[in-house]
Amino acid sequence: MYHQILKEIKKYETIVIARHVGVDPDALCSQLALRDSLRLKYPKKKIYAVGNGSTKFLNIGILDKVESAQNFLLIILDTPDRKRIDFPLVDSASMMIKIDHHPFVEKFGEIEYIDETKGSTCEILMDLIKTLKLPCNSEIAQTLYCGLVSDTNRFLFDSTTSHTFQLVSYYLEKYPFVLSEVYKALYLRPLKEVRLQGYIAENFSLTENGVLSIKLTNEDIVRFKADSASAGNMINNFNFIEEALVWVIVTEDLKNNNIRINIRSRGPIINQVAEKYSGGGHAFASGARVSCFEEADLLIHDLDEVCKNYIKGCEENEDKVE
Ligand code: AMP
Repeated sequence: MYHQILKEIKKYETIVIARHVGVDPDALCSQLALRDSLRLKYPKKKIYAVGNGSTKFLNIGILDKVESAQNFLLIILDTPDRKRIDFPLVDSASMMIKIDHHPFVEKFGEIEYIDETKGSTCEILMDLIKTLKLPCNSEIAQTLYCGLVSDTNRFLFDSTTSHTFQLVSYYLEKYPFVLSEVYKALYLRPLKEVRLQGYIAENFSLTENGVLSIKLTNEDIVRFKADSASAGNMINNFNFIEEALVWVIVTEDLKNNNIRINIRSRGPIINQVAEKYSGGGHAFASGARVSCFEEADLLIHDLDEVCKNYIKGCEENEDKVE
């Protein structure tokens, strides 16, 4: 399918590369890397990476502004559903291509390349760029690695395979870059955020079946002089807590007038619960936006039920083995 994608890319003089709302490093890095590689390959084409950025990721790369466009190919990365595409001109696209690693939600592209087994969209693009022999350099390789390392949470998840390491090794050898630069861009943070993390750890509550959660009001966020996204972005810092099967950060987002929910799991499947509350994501990493804290409580209750069934399933399996 990579060659089919390239065939379409060749046809269009204007190419817009978009991704999901609520920018994260994998989504951002995949669009920047693809843009920069295609710009090297086709210097005469107009190629843009679009969507709202975040000051947090400014040192990863700069996005483009596209206010109007005609007769263009829209490539949507890292986004399973049309409503979450961060680009207002979706309807004007002449053709859409989706490249994603999320579980399938809906078809919206004429060509859709989805590989759920991959830990990041950047890994798919590493494979695509290598297979199609598209141009690359150290900067592009570093950007791809940045997205990959972020979405696999530094290779912690089972979606990390020998193929992942082969690709990383290939890029690092062919287009050398400095690993510590990537980690600085991703993980350097102000002390106020570490203090907020301490507050979260101190104030987590735990349900009977292993759901660890915290609810943060706008007042809490303001007290730590942090922004509303920072708490949710810390969700991966609470991996491997023995008592928790699922952990949740619920944050009031005054700017968007809703409540942001970040969910992670180390066993129970959580994306079906996220979907019930109009969210989504992966089996073990999901998110949602709800309208009030009461709705967040319902979601946490549903997660507790999922954990209860998961524990029951594990116990039954143990009994069978005995
Ligand atoms: P996050 O906790 O923001 O890192 O998101 C984890 C996963 O859930 C990512 O794959 C997101 O794309 C997905 N996700 C987060 N929020 C939502 C939402 N409101 N709707 C659908 N998917 C979401």
